[in-house]
Amino acid sequence: MSGEDNQKTEESRGSASGSKGNLFIISAPSGAGKTTLCKELLKHFKGIRFSISHTTRGPRPGETEGTDYFFTSEEDFQDGIKNNTWAEWAKVHGNYYGTSIDFLNDALSSGSDVILDIDFQGAMQILKKYPDVITIFIMPPSIEILRSRLQERGTESDEVIESRITNAKQEIQKKNLYNYIIINDKLTDSKEELFEIVNKHLHRKN
Ligand code: ADP
Ligand code: 5GP
Repeated sequence: MSGEDNQKTEESRGSASGSKGNLFIISAPSGAGKTTLCKELLKHFKGIRFSISHTTRGPRPGETEGTDYFFTSEEDFQDGIKNNTWAEWAKVHGNYYGTSIDFLNDALSSGSDVILDIDFQGAMQILKKYPDVITIFIMPPSIEILRSRLQERGTESDEVIESRITNAKQEIQKKNLYNYIIINDKLTDSKEELFEIVNKHLHRKN
């Protein structure tokens, strides 16, 4: 069977009902292309569910409530911490981000495969609670390309871009703690690489 046939079979089958779903984490420095790759992944593997995070950051142009994030006040987020609402949470670039524990556990126990787009701090918390998690780190080809992608995206000021670049250098140092590293140079190649990794794990479990 060709790689393509493999993927087609997977798409039509979805998750095995009754089995615990696969959990994937995708992390990357801001601007490396994680959102772009996650969208491609979700388009390709129709059965995979994306965990929509809660954040205290304001929406960017084009982002919508309940699709990109659940935008929340800092007060509500802190209440969530007190009430153990989050499977993991972290402060990233000055804002809080968290994953709903109820969403995650309900999705996994019903057999759905789930993608978390979260940072390194969150990934380490999830790894402790869900040791079978499959972790993927998306790398930019270089810091210069990362900077130009952020500039071209045009959603942050120059000052915010520079702070994201500083964070990126720290995040990249953690890359070897992930199961897989994908260098997002040519989008078609990195997309293919990501699909292969995910496909391999879906087949292993089901
Ligand atoms: P992240 O979610 O990691 O912050 P995005 O997916 O928003 O990053 O990508 C940042 C910018 O780079 C976007 O404008 C996107 O269209 C662009 N981009 C993503 N991947 C590539 C690639 N392989 N080559 C060129 N541009 C890319
Ligand atoms: P952005 O504001 O650019 O959408 O995301 C900034 C960073 O926050 C990214 O590294 C993204 O992966 C991370 N992030 C998004 N949601 C969550 C979450 O629920 N938990 C954690 N720990 N990080 C998150």
